[in-house]
Amino acid sequence: MTEALPSIEVTPRDLSRYRAGNTGIDYVHRFDSGRPGPHVMVNALTHGNEFCGMVAVCHLLDSGVRPKIGTLTLSFANVAAYETFDPARPFDSRLITHNLNRIWSSAWLDGSEDSVELRRAREMRPAVAAADYILDIHSTSQDVVPFWVYPAFERNFEVARALPRPEVHLVMPAGLGSGTPLVQYDGHGRADGSGAALVVECGQHFKQATADLAVEVATNFLAHFGLVDGPKPRPAASPRRYELLRTHVIQQPTFAFVRPVVGFETFAEGELIATDGPLEIRAPCDDCTIFMPARTVIVGREGVYLTRPMR
Ligand SMILES: [Zn+2]
Repeated sequence: MTEALPSIEVTPRDLSRYRAGNTGIDYVHRFDSGRPGPHVMVNALTHGNEFCGMVAVCHLLDSGVRPKIGTLTLSFANVAAYETFDPARPFDSRLITHNLNRIWSSAWLDGSEDSVELRRAREMRPAVAAADYILDIHSTSQDVVPFWVYPAFERNFEVARALPRPEVHLVMPAGLGSGTPLVQYDGHGRADGSGAALVVECGQHFKQATADLAVEVATNFLAHFGLVDGPKPRPAASPRRYELLRTHVIQQPTFAFVRPVVGFETFAEGELIATDGPLEIRAPCDDCTIFMPARTVIVGREGVYLTRPMR
């Protein structure tokens, strides 16, 4: 399942000058307008090799963005993993020990285990807790169309549909099934919560177009909430929504898809999608659409997300 390495159009930058923020948390910057308004957070590098968010947050910091209303927090999350990037192994710097986007539950955050990612999540917890609206910027290993990912609450949908891109939404009625992502932290994971928290998957990790989209989405996100000047973003022309049905976590090193896939392939009900040792992963419905198929087999990591188009 391992293909040729993708070309690296966007390369890591030295982030040391952004380390000392003004919050007491490394790589976390907060700007308070002194006026009422929402507290909006734009977070990059939850996964260390997803450079588009780094480009977007650097762009905002370098351009001297200051909110006109409310408060803006800009952050780089897993800089430790990011700094291990090796162009010969560009997918390895996603994380060091734990997936920083699966540990935002009190079981992990208040637990006794320790790792680079757990320490970082615990450090960043007050910054995340303070934010009303969170944009967590990601990218995908495969070169597929960009998409939103968010818990299936109307308050999240309202924000995603108000922005022109991405047009595709992956909606999670019951979480990811493989851990708690940042966008489900505390109230953001509850129906009675407030604000909104969304992941944006901007395209393939290392493409310039992906970084360009991250800058666009971050700027639109801030404009939507009135933090920066500019016209109100227009809603997407033809949004397409998919509901997450099930996440398959790889059990065996022999996990394999029945044919090469990159994401967005569709399967008829009962059709075989992949095998995992003796397990058969079959489509639970017609038009079952797969998201984020694993590029390489790592036992314990997600193998594939099974979704159904929402009509
Ligand atoms: Zn990611």
